[in-house]
Amino acid sequence: MFESLTEKLEAALKSVSGQGRITELNIAGTMREIRRALLEADVNYQVAREFTERVKEKALGTKVLSSVSPGQQLVKIVYDELVRLLGSEQVDINLSPTPPTVILVAGLQGSGKTTFCAKLALYFKKKGRAPLLAAADVYRPAAVEQLKTLAASINVPVYSIEENGQVVQDAVRVAREAVQEARRTARDIVIIDTAGRLHIDEAMMQEVEQIKEAVRPHEILFVVDSMTGQDAVNTAKAFNERLDFDGVVLTKLDGDTRGGAALSIRSVVNKPIKFASTGEKLDALTPFYPDRMAQRILG
Ligand code: GDP
Repeated sequence: MFESLTEKLEAALKSVSGQGRITELNIAGTMREIRRALLEADVNYQVAREFTERVKEKALGTKVLSSVSPGQQLVKIVYDELVRLLGSEQVDINLSPTPPTVILVAGLQGSGKTTFCAKLALYFKKKGRAPLLAAADVYRPAAVEQLKTLAASINVPVYSIEENGQVVQDAVRVAREAVQEARRTARDIVIIDTAGRLHIDEAMMQEVEQIKEAVRPHEILFVVDSMTGQDAVNTAKAFNERLDFDGVVLTKLDGDTRGGAALSIRSVVNKPIKFASTGEKLDALTPFYPDRMAQRILG
């Protein structure tokens, strides 16, 4: 993950290590290299520019400490700014004081949404909760089947509506009834998997809005494939404008993602990244910790 970005940032920061002190002149080249490294990692242009501006300002305004070299000081500043860019703090899911907590999961087709729903169910199960999955991705029968198969492997029930062997294509009804089912069967978390499309699509957005309206979720999570770079940021913006979601889930961080999505999304949509998904297996999900991610980026 982020190998190329890590390498380039390391090289950029090395160029300062021999300097006796930080001056505008001797960090200008480093700042240019950092910015180039970020842009090559597909970080949003504005985000990369502001990032280097802040690092430069801090570096020039920092008192030189005798105990550390200017190079080390600059590494610390870059680290701090990366943590800030990634959101500073880990942010948990909003849980309802009165069960069930309703979590709506949205995103494009192929983003890893269905897999994430099952992962989240397992995550809560391990915490002693009783999740219920709702199969509101009703247009592709394979999607309902996929959710059922994943759920069976972790022993979590799925709510879906089928009549005469056919999936009933009413996502709002599935969501609403799933919440009732959870109340009836004492499940304390409902995770609703919704239909995605390959691209932003009006019908898809309207449907997710209708589900939101019908079940008033405590948490709306937007799932995005981190390999898609700038597209991930644009998709996040479009979903956020319509849904005003609470958090982002970054998937496929195990792939050779360049890092752009991870580094841009938080500051572009101003919503926390809450989970990172790092594999196809259902236990490959971790809460997102900005400081740990910054450490990995810096190598
Ligand atoms: P959906 O269409 O958004 O519901 O996406 P799926 O959950 O069906 O996932 C699409 C593909 O991506 C599947 O083959 C998943 O196994 C895979 N996938 C999901 N999350 C991850 C991840 O974090 N890492 C990797 N490598 N693959 C993932």
